Amino acid sequence: MSARFYDGRSARAQDARAAMDGDVLRIEADGREVAWPLQDLTVEIEADQARVSSRKDRDARLVLPVGDWSPMIGDRLAERAKSRRRREWWLIGGLTAAAAGVVLFVTVGVPALSGPVARATPVSMEQRMGDNFNAQVSAIFPACEDAAGQRTLAALGDRIAAEADTPFDIRVRAVDAPMVNAFALPGGYILVTDDLIREAKTPDELAAVIAHEVAHVEKRHVMQSVWRNFGVGMLLDLIVGGGTGAGQQAVILAGQASELSYSRSSELEADARGQTLLHAGGMSSLGMAPFFERMAAGESHDEMSEAAEFLATHPDSRRRAGAARAAQRTGRSALTATEWSAVRGLCKVEESENPVDRLKRRFGISDDAARPDKSDQVRPDGQ
Ligand SMILES: [Zn+2]
Repeated sequence: MSARFYDGRSARAQDARAAMDGDVLRIEADGREVAWPLQDLTVEIEADQARVSSRKDRDARLVLPVGDWSPMIGDRLAERAKSRRRREWWLIGGLTAAAAGVVLFVTVGVPALSGPVARATPVSMEQRMGDNFNAQVSAIFPACEDAAGQRTLAALGDRIAAEADTPFDIRVRAVDAPMVNAFALPGGYILVTDDLIREAKTPDELAAVIAHEVAHVEKRHVMQSVWRNFGVGMLLDLIVGGGTGAGQQAVILAGQASELSYSRSSELEADARGQTLLHAGGMSSLGMAPFFERMAAGESHDEMSEAAEFLATHPDSRRRAGAARAAQRTGRSALTATEWSAVRGLCKVEESENPVDRLKRRFGISDDAARPDKSDQVRPDGQ
């Protein structure tokens, strides 16, 4: 074999002997031995010469006839390339699995974990979050002004929550919002829209809706929904009070507050528990089924969109009405006639006013640029 070795330090070619020893190429030249592991080798074929170098010894070269090199190296380089490709495939497979894992975690893991995480969330943390949340939502959905009516409504909330096993102070209030809905915020705040109050045919229907929301608070579904729907970043923002871009954020939050969605099983659980709370307080639960049925039928109001809003956050109403009817019990009415009329008159929004006009009025969008009014005196649209 006529191999020549260039050690990279001198230009002189040294006569060399080379042989593979397992996965190591051993080169003997000038009485010295160099050992190059197979994985570091680079080979260039030029004419009938193989020029072999090592990543670890870049300036050195072994030059030998291809006819000597090929039998020596055999399939080893091809094998090595194949195993590198195998490693690459494993890497691609691993990355794909990791990506699938992330997707699975978000779509399955987070919802599955949100329950335990919600129950493990410290009460003080949920309370703080609720306080901040509430302050921001209040800017968008102002409370109706009638103090006596609000007291009557809050007292109804207290009676329903009396038997609830929750560390949170349940605070129910009526808000001015162009939609039929009720929702709970973290920390025990429950908002009932004026449109929902007007939509309720009896105090028991209103009581049933409130009881359902109280159950969401008690079962910590609200917190669960927060964990599921909002990113950790949003949560942190809520906890610290969302100092930056508060106005814009408030709009987003208010939108999301009314869209805090619960799983189907949470809804059924809240219905059943809500009825139990009513029974524990000696109240009738006969109001739940008819209210859901009317909403499901969508014939409750001229504004179909308002019923749709309720249905969006309370899906499956027809089926739930059936379950509620099966479990319902008679009891005393949630409110006396006097109390009921106080609650009914709580938000003095005229029924004739359409939702767009109401939003305009609330946000002061009008020709005379009225400020957002908290009374019902300003009627930019002349109604
Ligand atoms: Zn619900």
